[in-house]
Amino acid sequence: MKTMHIDWTACDGRGLCAELLPELLTTDDWGYPAARASMGVPGELESAAKLAVDRCPALALRLVVRS
Ligand code: SF4
Repeated sequence: MKTMHIDWTACDGRGLCAELLPELLTTDDWGYPAARASMGVPGELESAAKLAVDRCPALALRLVVRS
């Protein structure tokens, strides 16, 4: 399973990723993304997760393979 990684030094907190991947992410009171449960990306959400990575305006998202 892959895991979504957020670079907090780059994220600008607009919450686009939470709109594109609501099953995995929500936003906190300041608009920064927060995991609903874990940041593990189930296979059925992988294409949506890749879209969120591609669309992040701050290039703050990465999908990493858990070892
Ligand atoms: S889309 Fe990128 S910049 Fe916007 S809240 Fe998500 S991680 Fe942060």
